[in-house]
Amino acid sequence: LTYCRNLPKVELHAHLTGSLSDDTVLQLLEAKEKELGSKNSLCSAKITISKGHQRSLDECFRVFELLHSLTDSLEAIRKITQNVIQEFAEDGVRYLELRTTPKNILGKMTKKEYVDTVLEAMINEMKTCRIMVRLLVSVDRGRGVEDAWSTLSLAKQYLDHDVFKGLLVGIDVSGNPNKGNLADYIPILKEAKKCGFKLAVHLAEVKSCVEETDAVLQNGLVDRIGHGTYLLDNNGYGINNQDMILKHHIPIEICLSSNVKTESVSSFEDHHFPVWHALKHPLAVSTDDKGVFSTTLSNEYYICAKTFNLSEKDIHELCLHAVEATFLPSSDKDILRQMVKDDLSKLM
Ligand code: IMP
Repeated sequence: LTYCRNLPKVELHAHLTGSLSDDTVLQLLEAKEKELGSKNSLCSAKITISKGHQRSLDECFRVFELLHSLTDSLEAIRKITQNVIQEFAEDGVRYLELRTTPKNILGKMTKKEYVDTVLEAMINEMKTCRIMVRLLVSVDRGRGVEDAWSTLSLAKQYLDHDVFKGLLVGIDVSGNPNKGNLADYIPILKEAKKCGFKLAVHLAEVKSCVEETDAVLQNGLVDRIGHGTYLLDNNGYGINNQDMILKHHIPIEICLSSNVKTESVSSFEDHHFPVWHALKHPLAVSTDDKGVFSTTLSNEYYICAKTFNLSEKDIHELCLHAVEATFLPSSDKDILRQMVKDDLSKLM
């Protein structure tokens, strides 16, 4: 694990609210208790959050709702962004592509204030931590198409922004895969691509997603795949997606602990990682929700190396593959690649 901590890592699949450490959640709970003047309503929440055991996907979404109720002020958003970036930096993450869903909370914040606050915190942390951070704004499929259109029109405002230009590098599509139909979001994704955004889309996270997955992939809209648990042809669920993903070298974000803890994959050994890895397909080992799943990126590399018997060379290649899968423009990617190579050579 120490070896994995020292790796210069690139994190490409991290949801802000799912990444909150127990310490941060306790700070938020204390602040909320002060605000509400009562302890009773929230003490059961403490127990739920500090457990790092199995949680079904639906249970996870209940945890997200609870976390959202604790992060309903701009002050909380600033605090959680700072803490999450610091924690990734302490874990040896050199580049973080953080994703979050802009929220509009009546009387408390607009979506624009939410995104501005996250970006300001990112800029501040980059001054003091050894980490480069970029943002993906998330479209939550559970919030409906209207909400997604409004998020896209907000994202457009950052393409040519005076202060924040270059920090918002793409759009993520996430949310409860058991809610809504991804195919309904295709017009939005087409428009986002037209505007120049890169798209990271949660695909085939659960078995029932096959048809929508096929529709989104056939439209050539995806730059990076989140999870992709049910994409392999030989598992009886894929509809010839595997070949086109291989042909177009669409990187897959691999979230081992998340998939096993939410029981979408029965064990680490049964994960789809080794199949794609053997085919030399670009993969990015990631955490998904380091808080909710009680993990770190170092831990994910460790689990991966141990379960699949990876050599040092394999692990270094994984770090470099993640660099290529970032949504950075090529000049920034060159700088990051060099940094990762330099740090890797010090480990040999
Ligand atoms: P936020 O966007 O910063 O509020 O992060 C939490 C949100 O990320 C959740 O409400 C979901 O929309 C999304 N999310 C986190 N983990 C997953 C996952 O495993 N699948 C799909 N969506 C997820």
